[in-house]
Amino acid sequence: MVVFEMAVCPFCACLCDDIVVRVEGNEIKEVRNACTLGVRKFLAFRENRLETPLIGGEERSYDDALREAAEILKGAERPLIYGLSNTGCSAQKLALRLARRLNGICDNTESLCHNLFHTLQREFNLFSTTLDAVKDNADVVVFLGCNPVHSHPRHLSKFSYAEGRFLPKGITDREIVCVDVVTSELDKIAKWFLRVRPGADAAVCEALWTMVGGTAGGGGGEAAARSVKALAEAAGVSVEDLSRVAETLKNASFGVVFFGLGVAASENAKDSVAALFSLVEALSGTTNFAMFPMKGHFNVVGAVITFLRETGFPFGVDFSGGNARFEPGKTTALDVLEGCDAALIVGADPIASFPKEKAKLLAKMPLIVLDPFRTPTVEAAAVTIPTALTGVETEETAYRMDCLPLKLKKLVEGNKPTDRDFLLQLHNAV
Ligand code: SF4
Repeated sequence: MVVFEMAVCPFCACLCDDIVVRVEGNEIKEVRNACTLGVRKFLAFRENRLETPLIGGEERSYDDALREAAEILKGAERPLIYGLSNTGCSAQKLALRLARRLNGICDNTESLCHNLFHTLQREFNLFSTTLDAVKDNADVVVFLGCNPVHSHPRHLSKFSYAEGRFLPKGITDREIVCVDVVTSELDKIAKWFLRVRPGADAAVCEALWTMVGGTAGGGGGEAAARSVKALAEAAGVSVEDLSRVAETLKNASFGVVFFGLGVAASENAKDSVAALFSLVEALSGTTNFAMFPMKGHFNVVGAVITFLRETGFPFGVDFSGGNARFEPGKTTALDVLEGCDAALIVGADPIASFPKEKAKLLAKMPLIVLDPFRTPTVEAAAVTIPTALTGVETEETAYRMDCLPLKLKKLVEGNKPTDRDFLLQLHNAV
């Protein structure tokens, strides 16, 4: 029997690193400290697995699958490599090397999720922080368009709701503000819960921006009041409620906004994320305020960091001209699909997550899929390569949502190649 005391959970980007895992006879028998999502990831890791490489749906050897995948990629004029958020950093680095060798395009799932954050981050001078600093210092925590109770269940108890160094009473020392289109469990713990109309995040942020002093005249005046009234009406909330929330934000000694795909993937995401940046910038002028995208996949942050380190760009890198090129709207997966003639998918399920029309385009081209599990993308693949489960059957490096690197452990012996091993073989074979 082996007990791993400080295992890291490879499910969401909280990457909880206090998980206790008991292994007996190469089986995970007990998991402590993880949430239900994490427990399931560890205990059910043998369910729904891919066991044998497939070519055209027929079982084949790894050597055959490697040869076929290499032939498809060598024969493609414009191959796409996509995904990479559910794998480790060394696999991500190899995927980039492969894309460079193929003169192809390499993109990670961030191009569909928090892409605007990276574009706007360059335009605003905001300070960044860590989840541990949030735990120790944040007396005002805002959740905008996200519900960690479902997406990151331990986020609250470990960081945003927890007892911290300067907040020894935890929740009673903090003021929680939620802005969402539906009521949620957070309603019970939030001091202010603003239920807003869908797509109204920009209006809420603009109104708060005005109220906290974002206007040239210091936030006052008739014009600002009129504008706040109109924005409140558009959002479906009262001016009084907005005003109370604005006071809470202004009075924070250390505030943080966590925002999710409810904002970043909404219809008017561009306006909403820009308005949120402006609000946090205005608050930063008078107090300490930071903002965090609530990242989903366990190593999407690692993908962005690896892309930045290797190419200077966070996602959507086109190597076709010989140099790395990044043009959001032109070099990201959804934009290039029409011109691509093959795709290699690693640790992602784009057939399930892409818009329907884009998924159809992807399904039409020869697809090579590296994945531990059966997914809709695997169903559409020409070549399927089962790989080891990162953080359970192989060790790797991943980055937490606040950019903290963590070592994922190998807990059990597997019988499948790791993503990085197979990508290295593929790189050598093409
Ligand atoms: S919060 Fe996320 S990382 Fe932590 S145990 Fe749950 S699923 Fe795993």
